[in-house]
Amino acid sequence: TKSPVTVTVTGAAGQIGYALLFRIASGALLGPDTPVKLNMLEIPQGVKAAEGTAMELNDCAFPLLQEINIFDDPNQAFEGANVGLLVGARPRTKGMERADLLAANGGIFGPQGKAINDHAADDIRVLVVGNPANTNALIAASAAPDVPASRFTAMMRLDHNRAIAQLAEKVGAPVADIKKMAVWGNHSADQYPDVSYATVAGKPAADLVDAAWLDEYFVPTVAKRGAAIIEARGASSAASAANAAIDHVYNWVNGTPEGDWVTAGVASDGSYGVPEGLVFGFPCTSNGGEWEIVQGLEISDATRAGIERNIKALEEERDAVRELGVL
Ligand code: NDP
Repeated sequence: TKSPVTVTVTGAAGQIGYALLFRIASGALLGPDTPVKLNMLEIPQGVKAAEGTAMELNDCAFPLLQEINIFDDPNQAFEGANVGLLVGARPRTKGMERADLLAANGGIFGPQGKAINDHAADDIRVLVVGNPANTNALIAASAAPDVPASRFTAMMRLDHNRAIAQLAEKVGAPVADIKKMAVWGNHSADQYPDVSYATVAGKPAADLVDAAWLDEYFVPTVAKRGAAIIEARGASSAASAANAAIDHVYNWVNGTPEGDWVTAGVASDGSYGVPEGLVFGFPCTSNGGEWEIVQGLEISDATRAGIERNIKALEEERDAVRELGVL
């Protein structure tokens, strides 16, 4: 077995946290040979519930779980962290303005970024799940000048998985037959799910579906899936979000499969005309080290328009947090 990896989860007592922690402890996050030390971060009101979850984690007697610690101080929670899953965020409540939401999250992700900068291990990898995830990742990265911006990523994998599921259902193929899905941009209704490069059992997906289905059904269904889940379940998606977080980190650490890629929200290096620094959903591969944006894809007019819409949305979020002095 390998040496233990310290995983810090924020918002650990929340819905996603509850769906996430048990899978991390079981070995799904890093692999079946990697022992885990779990650091759970909560706000003070969340600590008691986190203690209850920790009791249940103990009761699972997971062979890979070496330690559980609960904190309400980010500096302690990120001490020696190798992986940070930033789930806790300020939910938008009724009557709350967008600026209030961005300011509240600046107050969470700024200090967490600084704590990561000052206390995490040199190989720290961060995935932001809490919304607005892309901009929260940008805020955390900018508060961590000593950590490469490439280590701060945002979760686009749920959108990617949702897009695969919708296409599989439409063409009547198993999910495993679908490769090279892409979701460009922001984890919001602006996102652009794109089948341009996707294949189904090796055949171009674009030959199997028509443009009207893509524009009128596929894109809006994937982009608005979160709202549809809330409508049906009476609560927001939690297990599927946790699953996507697991997928993202697993592929980052263990690599993406040969001949395929996944979608990850990563700091742009200017690829595909996306301004440098914006945390943007791109098709990415990993060889177990850093995420790499897939290069050289031909961009259709529809994809270009989708990318531009997302650049605009993310620039607006970035400018809003700059104006608030959060960035
Ligand atoms: P959830 O665990 O359901 O959600 C947490 C965050 O994930 C939210 O920002 C949510 O966004 C976001 N999210 C991203 N993608 C998805 C998705 N596909 N489906 C659903 N959510 C998604 O929230 P809870 O309220 O149950 O738990 C949050 C916990 O975080 C609480 O226990 C709270 O005390 C804690 N918290 C901890 C902080 C800390 O550790 N410092 C700071 C703030 C809160 P959206 O709101 O858009 O649904």
